[in-house]
Amino acid sequence: MSEITQVPTSVTPAVLLSDHLKALKLPTFMREYDKVAMESAQDRADYPRYLLRLCELERIDRERRMVERRIRMARFPQTKSFDTFDFVAQPSLNKALVLELARCDWITKRSNVVALGPSGTGKTHLALALGLSACQKGQSVAFVTAAALVHELMEARDERRLRKLQQQLAQVKLLIIDELGYVPFTAVGSELLFEVLSQRYERGSTLITSNLPFDEWPSVFGSERLTGALLDRLTHHVHILEMNGDSYRLAASRKRQKRQSGIDIIIDEQEGVMT
Ligand code: ADP
Ligand code: MG
Repeated sequence: MSEITQVPTSVTPAVLLSDHLKALKLPTFMREYDKVAMESAQDRADYPRYLLRLCELERIDRERRMVERRIRMARFPQTKSFDTFDFVAQPSLNKALVLELARCDWITKRSNVVALGPSGTGKTHLALALGLSACQKGQSVAFVTAAALVHELMEARDERRLRKLQQQLAQVKLLIIDELGYVPFTAVGSELLFEVLSQRYERGSTLITSNLPFDEWPSVFGSERLTGALLDRLTHHVHILEMNGDSYRLAASRKRQKRQSGIDIIIDEQEGVMT
């Protein structure tokens, strides 16, 4: 006999309803049904319209909860969006392409994105904004720096859980690997990263940011052969964002320095570092 038929008849309908709605995972129904019932009575809305209103509220809330969950799972180090990105400050960047990428069709097509440019040109900002758009469009995202990813892979290998981590990394729809190029990898580290990219080839999208042009990538991976094979896979379906303008940090600091004439130490407010 099911639990439902065993519920004592003395239990009030409100308690039963709350129990059913909890079991059916409809928290918005539970929270709103009373209020929407009163509104519907006032508007003389019939039962289907009443239920329709509740269903709509539940779906809107569920979508919001799922976006929030995807954002948490992505582990973004900061929240950045296109709203705060100043395209005028980065004239070398193809704005039309960026706005097209923000629609996330490239993730459905399993293409890749590589953002190249010197430090401070907004690569991480763009990567975070594209990651956020992807979460909002229903895609799973993981954000990690190249150094941290290699470190995690090596640790997983030592602890005999590499396969599991590789499977997790292969499943995510968009993997963002930030800051490739600042730290060269060991031979093992390079191979582990190569394996991740191979496993994702044509299965999921990868976004890589780097301060180095492609021809300098062998210095990071320590092997021409491996870099060639990696670039071959990565760039088969790729959109390249070139950001060769001035450093936004430096430009912002210079502006501030001009304003505070007489003070010759420039402090980057956002980063808290002296430049
Ligand atoms: P990179 O990753 O290329 O080194 P970041 O994305 O970390 O650069 O940018 C450095 C700082 O400057 C960040 O706080 C970022 O939000 C800001 N920034 C960079 N470019 C822009 C831009 N075009 N519009 C607005 N903010 C920017
Ligand atoms: Mg960066």
